[in-house]
Amino acid sequence: MQTLHASKCGLSTAQLPSYILDVIDALTKAGFEAYIVGGGVRDLMLGLNPKDFDAVTDATPAQVKEVFGRRCRIIGRRFELAHVYSGRELVEVATFRAPPKKEVTSASGMILRDNNWGTIEQDFARRDFSINAMYYQPRKGIVLDFCHAIDDIKNKTLRLLGDPTLRFEEDPVRMLRTLRFAAKLNFSIAPDILEVFTPEMTQLLRDISPHRLYDESQKLFTMGHLNRVLPMLIDFDIWRQLFADIDPEISTFIERAAINTDQRIQIGKTINPAFFYAVLLWKPFLERCEFYLNKGVVAAEARAQAGLDVLKRQATRTIIPRFAETFIREVWEMQTRLLSPKPQQIQSLSTHARFRAGFDFLLLREKSGDHSTQGMGTWWDSYQLMNTDEKERAISQYNRQRAKSRRKASVDDVVESKSVSVEIEPLVQEVAPRSRRERDRKSRGKPERPVQMVTSGSSEIRADHPILKRKRVTRDLNQVVFGPTQ
Ligand code: ATP
Ligand code: MG
Repeated sequence: MQTLHASKCGLSTAQLPSYILDVIDALTKAGFEAYIVGGGVRDLMLGLNPKDFDAVTDATPAQVKEVFGRRCRIIGRRFELAHVYSGRELVEVATFRAPPKKEVTSASGMILRDNNWGTIEQDFARRDFSINAMYYQPRKGIVLDFCHAIDDIKNKTLRLLGDPTLRFEEDPVRMLRTLRFAAKLNFSIAPDILEVFTPEMTQLLRDISPHRLYDESQKLFTMGHLNRVLPMLIDFDIWRQLFADIDPEISTFIERAAINTDQRIQIGKTINPAFFYAVLLWKPFLERCEFYLNKGVVAAEARAQAGLDVLKRQATRTIIPRFAETFIREVWEMQTRLLSPKPQQIQSLSTHARFRAGFDFLLLREKSGDHSTQGMGTWWDSYQLMNTDEKERAISQYNRQRAKSRRKASVDDVVESKSVSVEIEPLVQEVAPRSRRERDRKSRGKPERPVQMVTSGSSEIRADHPILKRKRVTRDLNQVVFGPTQ
């Protein structure tokens, strides 16, 4: 173990927010050891802006609770921690951990329970990467470095503590963390990690709860280097583990969305991580819509059911919380509304709670070369910048164009005696539930075709399924509240 001078590592108390110093000071005053550890120390040394600060101490969670009283909550079962509220900030205070006892690991070596308190040396050995295992005592101005982590910082290398195979087996999420830190810090991954980071090894992620994997996916989406990490997820076969039905390829749409997300984070704008899920799952969603449409399900019903199906399949890997699922389905639903709005709805659409996200999504599609948006992304983009008079003119012009396309469609209809789509066609093409010939046959009392089982992948719909019998109801669209199941 070497003790480094904090100042020589580029660290000083002036860089630290008062909330973390308060926590360290209160624990020290109560007679405990207390350090800042993890990403906070690492990022400060690298000249980055830390996302948060984690503290570690020899006080047990119960003792931490005694020190901070009502400001402290003990959380977690598998991994017990104290959450200390300092001002408006939250500091995670962990207790030094010893190696887990044998009986609390699974057959594959995964740690199931991890509340065995220990010494700082034991705690160090339990951490994942050398660069995440530096203990900074700001009041003493020292950094405890047990493994020459400072060299890894200088050489920009990600090195796991201990045997990489064992460390991945203990906690397969470390594979995701490897890619996250490599992308975020632009570090190279040590050769001994690369050697064992195989597709077989990534299979261990199947044992991780979809809730935890969702949290990890969010960290990947919001770290500010999503565009850099996406190809790595494919190269290391992590993609398949995280996203069940999404082809492992980065389309222009996905790439643009990733770049956009990173840029927003860089300039301090908020992002909704569910937006990127909406992007990733868009293609499977369209394919599923198509599947239902081909079975004669009406468009709105097809979209609603497709949304449910796609999110349900994804939940086998990462469980997206209900509110985020609703957001995703609303963004998808908005695509249809924005593509072919009724003129009288345009104004209210532009003030709808989901308009912004839906519009961003539409524009992203359009800029990625998706011609099915019919230029409506650009139309809405200009519309928002107009004053009231200009808006009115734009709406009337849109209305005239729409009527013209309809007239054209009906003329063509007569000429070609078949229906033609209007110029601004709906996102999901409507298909009549039954062909005219079939309906005629039924009215003439001829027997219907035998009931067929329709199969696609894992899902089946019988041809007499109620979803196929839903009639199209004409609704007063002014009364409709937009929602995912409309
Ligand atoms: P971030 O910048 O994302 O916060 P971080 O390194 O601080 O990065 P956290 O998830 O906040 O990551 O964890 C804090 C510290 O706890 C880590 O730096 C590491 O020392 C330890 N740690 C977290 N997760 C693991 C894990 N799965 N295995 C071993 N140690 C871990
Ligand atoms: Mg952290």
